[in-house]
Amino acid sequence: MKTVVAGGGWAGLAAAATLSQQDISVDLFESSKQLGGRARSIIDDEWYIDNGQHMMLGAYRNTLKLFNMLGVDERKIARRKLLEFEMHSADNSKVMLRVPNVAAPVHLLWGLMRTKGLDLHERGTALRLGARLIRDKFSITDDLPLEKWLLQNGQTRRLIQYLWQPLCLAMLNTPIKEASTKVFIHILRKNFARERDDSDLLFILPPLSACLPTFAKQYIEQHDGSIHLNQRITGLAVENNQLQGIYMDETYLSCDQLILATPAWITQKLLAEHEATQQISHDLEQFNHHPICTIYIQYPDTASLGTEFIGLVDSMAHWVFDRCMNGQPGLMAVVICGPGEHMNMENESLATVVIDELARLYPKWPEPIKWRVLREKRATLSCDTTVQEKRPETRTPIKGLWLAGDYLNTGYPSILEGAVKSGIMSARSLLAERATSSSARAVR
Ligand SMILES: Cc1cc2nc3c(=O)[nH]c(=O)nc-3n(C[C@H](O)[C@H](O)[C@H](O)COP(=O)(O)OP(=O)(O)OC[C@H]3O[C@@H](n4cnc5c(N)ncnc54)[C@H](O)[C@@H]3O)c2cc1C
Repeated sequence: MKTVVAGGGWAGLAAAATLSQQDISVDLFESSKQLGGRARSIIDDEWYIDNGQHMMLGAYRNTLKLFNMLGVDERKIARRKLLEFEMHSADNSKVMLRVPNVAAPVHLLWGLMRTKGLDLHERGTALRLGARLIRDKFSITDDLPLEKWLLQNGQTRRLIQYLWQPLCLAMLNTPIKEASTKVFIHILRKNFARERDDSDLLFILPPLSACLPTFAKQYIEQHDGSIHLNQRITGLAVENNQLQGIYMDETYLSCDQLILATPAWITQKLLAEHEATQQISHDLEQFNHHPICTIYIQYPDTASLGTEFIGLVDSMAHWVFDRCMNGQPGLMAVVICGPGEHMNMENESLATVVIDELARLYPKWPEPIKWRVLREKRATLSCDTTVQEKRPETRTPIKGLWLAGDYLNTGYPSILEGAVKSGIMSARSLLAERATSSSARAVR
């Protein structure tokens, strides 16, 4: 039995590592020259940066378990901190939420109650919604756009601007006017209503390429697996609804098990060729994706936020991360989530706007030395109210063909945890079917 994984992002790596753990030797084919997919590093003569600032939460249980399985201590890859964030407006007023180290969900209510920069009425309004969510076990019957739901539930414009919108953009990368309330609430529950440490912030310490890609590669190779870079899957060979092999340009490789961990838009094209998977392909075609734009700005190393990150309101930039925590003093990663006018601006104009915004907040910082704009147009799936029921499961109607990727129906938005969970789920489905077929053969 030949088992192949296509795609070396976090989903494909999680799938291949899970199979390796069960002593299945896997061949992983990745079309680019490096592993990591959207969560990779970019290294050249001038820059050593990530393809966008990434962070994790304590609630990334599948991801943390995977690192544990690979023999990697959490402290080697991340710095953990109690949830806190501060939102700065252009006039330098601040709203700051910090949760205390007490059991969930009391920590959330306590944090909301003591949020600095909100008046008594605002805190009471946010707190009442938090308490209602807890009472209703974080469930609602009908889905609707988050902003509409928040307004229906008495949240003020200012609360939306300083609290709910930043949380929505950070968790779903989807504008609050279109984001699915159901998904938002589901993620709130996962992050705030189970264990206190689920809401912890985990700042990733190594460059992304030296994180999961490095450890997973080692593990897969130690278990007789092979990683093949610069190898693009161009087609699937299917006969009588059973996978027979894969095409890579002119090359054909026979295999009877394939985990297709390519991004949704590539998977859509590969599945469109086969009648049995045309419905999934059609559903994937309906998906909208949203961009994330990261502007790296290198200042002299005296420039510092004095904290790991801050959020901005009334600005083009949404978040600023101080890469000092990654041993890169003076380097700021400025993140703009989702769509917006910035996507139509020239890099130079965009960098100028963002540098001016930072100069207004930090007038004592020296002039920047250099900047670089990275735009990932299809960074994440849009978490709107229309796509949720269209997200596919890992199993396909073609025997031997499984799907993995952050677009699957994992219960998460497009995040690292969703990608990892999808990879583990697809590997487990493959293993379960293999076990069933072996016992059926044994009985015969
Ligand atoms: C800028 C940015 C910031 C983000 N920030 C965060 C964050 O802070 N926290 C968080 O949790 N998530 C974040 N995300 C989301 C996270 O990066 C993704 O959810 C995750 O990396 C998706 O992993 P994946 O394996 O599903 O897909 P991908 O990473 O897209 O992996 C798919 C792989 O398949 C390969 N491939 C494509 N076509 C083929 C083919 N034909 N044959 C073989 N291989 C192929 C690709 O090269 C790629 O390596 C961010 C994403 C971006 C872009």
